[in-house]
Amino acid sequence: MDNLKIEKLGAEHKISIGISSCLLGHKVRFDSGHKQNSYINNTLSEYFDFVPFCPEVDIGLGIPREAIRLVLIGEKVHCVGSKTADLDVTQQLKNSAKQQFQWQKNLSGYILKKDSPSCGMERVRLYKGNMPDRIGVGIYAQTLMDKFPNLPVEEEGRLGDAVLRENFIQRVFIYARWQKMVAQPFSMQALTQFHAQHKYIYMSHNQNLAKELGRWLADAHKLESDEVLEHYLSAMMVMLKTRASRKNHVNTLQHLQGYLKNFISADDKAELVEIITQYSDGLLPLIVPITLLRHHFRRFPNEYIMDSYYMKPHPKELMLLNSL
Ligand code: SF4
Repeated sequence: MDNLKIEKLGAEHKISIGISSCLLGHKVRFDSGHKQNSYINNTLSEYFDFVPFCPEVDIGLGIPREAIRLVLIGEKVHCVGSKTADLDVTQQLKNSAKQQFQWQKNLSGYILKKDSPSCGMERVRLYKGNMPDRIGVGIYAQTLMDKFPNLPVEEEGRLGDAVLRENFIQRVFIYARWQKMVAQPFSMQALTQFHAQHKYIYMSHNQNLAKELGRWLADAHKLESDEVLEHYLSAMMVMLKTRASRKNHVNTLQHLQGYLKNFISADDKAELVEIITQYSDGLLPLIVPITLLRHHFRRFPNEYIMDSYYMKPHPKELMLLNSL
C-alpha cells in the first residue's frame, strides 16, 4: 500500500477485517434481531472488506434462541443458558473459535460486538450467583485474542470515541502494511524502512518505547529473522495500543518542524509555532498543524518526512485527525 495512495480502495485491495455478523445487520441475535452499526456499514466499508462470523449460530444455537451468559462456577468462567443452567456452551464456543484460525490469520483487524458473552472484548457481565460484575470477556473473543495477541481488536461501542477510533484504524492500517511486508522474503533493509516510515507515529504514542525499539533494531542483525519479526511486531503493537497523547503529538510536531528551520521564513516559523501551540492548548485539532506541515514540506520537499506515515496515517475521507 503506497503512502500517498491510501484513498478509497478497490474491492481487491480492501483490508480484511473480521466482524461480529450482527453489526453488519445480519439477523443472527438471540431475539432474531441485529445491531447494524452505521459507521461500520456506511464509512468503514469503503476501506475494509468485512468477514462476518457469528459464533453462536456456528455452534448450532438457533435463531431465535435462549440468551446465554457468563457465569463463574468455582474458579472457571462458563457460558450457559440464562434460563437453562445445564445448557453449557463454553467448550463449543472455544472449539468454534479455534476452527476459524485458518481465515482469521489473514485478517488485519477485528470488530466485536460489545457486551456479548461470546463476542464481547471486555466488561461483559460475569455472574456470580445473581450478581453480575462487568469483568468478563466473551468466550469466542478471548480465544481469538489469545491466538492473535497482536491483531488490532476493538468493539463497536468504543469506535464512538474519537481517540479510540483513530487508534484502532491506525493500528489496522499499520498491521496491514506489516502483513504485506512479511509476506515477502525477510529483509533487514525492508524492516529498517518500515521502521523509518512509522517512527513518528511511534513517537506520538510513547517516546521512550519508540527510542528503545529503534536502539533494539540497530542491533537486531545479530538475531534470527523469526526472532526479529516476532519481537518487533509485539513491541510495535504494545506501543501503538497506548493512546497517543496531545503532549506526545506536540513533541512529534516540533520534531518535524525542526526539519524546516533552515528553509521557511521567520513569519512562517512563527505561524507554525503558533498553530502547534494552539493545538497544544486544545484550541485546534491535529489536522491543522499536520496540514500546515504538509504544505511547507511540499514547498521544501524532504523525502524522509513525506515518506512518513505520520503525515498521512489513514485516508483523509475518514477525517480521523479532525477530532483529535
Ligand atoms: S454471537 Fe456475536 S455475532 Fe452472534 S449475535 Fe451475538 S454478538 Fe452478534
